[in-house]
Amino acid sequence: MNSLTEGTSTENYHPQEAQSISILDHGFVELIDAMGSDLTVVNSARVSFGKRKKSLSDGDKKLIHYLAEHKHWSPFRHVQLQFHCKVPEFVARQWYKHVVGIAYTEAATVDHAWNELSLRYVDASEFNFYTPTGFRKQSENNKQASTDEWVNDPDGQLMAEYRNHCEKALNLYHRLIEHGVAREQARGVLPLNIYTEFYWTVSLQALANFIHLRKHEGAQYEIRLYADALETLARQVVPVSLDALMATPNQ
Ligand SMILES: Cc1cc2nc3c(=O)[nH]c(=O)nc-3n(C[C@H](O)[C@H](O)[C@H](O)COP(=O)(O)OP(=O)(O)OC[C@H]3O[C@@H](n4cnc5c(N)ncnc54)[C@H](O)[C@@H]3O)c2cc1C
Repeated sequence: MNSLTEGTSTENYHPQEAQSISILDHGFVELIDAMGSDLTVVNSARVSFGKRKKSLSDGDKKLIHYLAEHKHWSPFRHVQLQFHCKVPEFVARQWYKHVVGIAYTEAATVDHAWNELSLRYVDASEFNFYTPTGFRKQSENNKQASTDEWVNDPDGQLMAEYRNHCEKALNLYHRLIEHGVAREQARGVLPLNIYTEFYWTVSLQALANFIHLRKHEGAQYEIRLYADALETLARQVVPVSLDALMATPNQ
């Protein structure tokens, strides 16, 4: 321990307490691990004054809000969270656009800690397809959005065709594999609603940016559910810091 040390925080997240939130019909987000706590943010900032705290005071909570309000974001990047996510492929494609994992300043440091299940290695037979509870109508005034209204499908005919299409795609996949086609090519017939899984490690600042953007009503319904779950899980680790970041505009 160096001369600044008053003690070690005991508030860190413990992996054995890992919590998972189910999303959609087969998806989930699980908080696998976390480095840091609200105290980490405070101590990262207070090192400027040669101080280290052992427990979080009301003054420290105010400091966290001050840091967020005044865009002193680097202390928030010392907190790292690792998630295991199971999401439909089309959600993963949106998620993957968030390229900053660890840190950024004016010149972005891209450290995209993402590892994903590969259909080059794994046979797709064990995979799930996402089936929505209903079909949302296309928005007429926003090209990328859906509305809250359901498409009329009283006898479930459209939904049955949707399921049937997935089964047919999987059957073709099997036939290709049986004929010796490589998994990396056979996967090309699988639809975008197939679930994939990945590990994602992200700094608290980049996570808050993700939640801001993907909880927004302009984001797709399905990824909004994941953003909500990430927020719930992260709040268990850094309740004060997350509230402070969510109260400020996008990072
Ligand atoms: C509703 C919605 C619709 C979208 N539609 C589309 C679409 O149609 N097509 C599409 O391709 N994408 C789309 N996106 C993705 C969007 O363009 C972003 O790529 C995505 O939201 C990631 O945001 P980000 O860049 O802030 O996050 P990150 O990539 O995690 O970056 C975090 C922050 O780091 C900084 N940063 C990152 N890279 C650099 C850099 N090189 N230089 C300087 N600063 C940097 C920025 O401040 C950025 O906000 C959409 C996103 C949303 C929320």
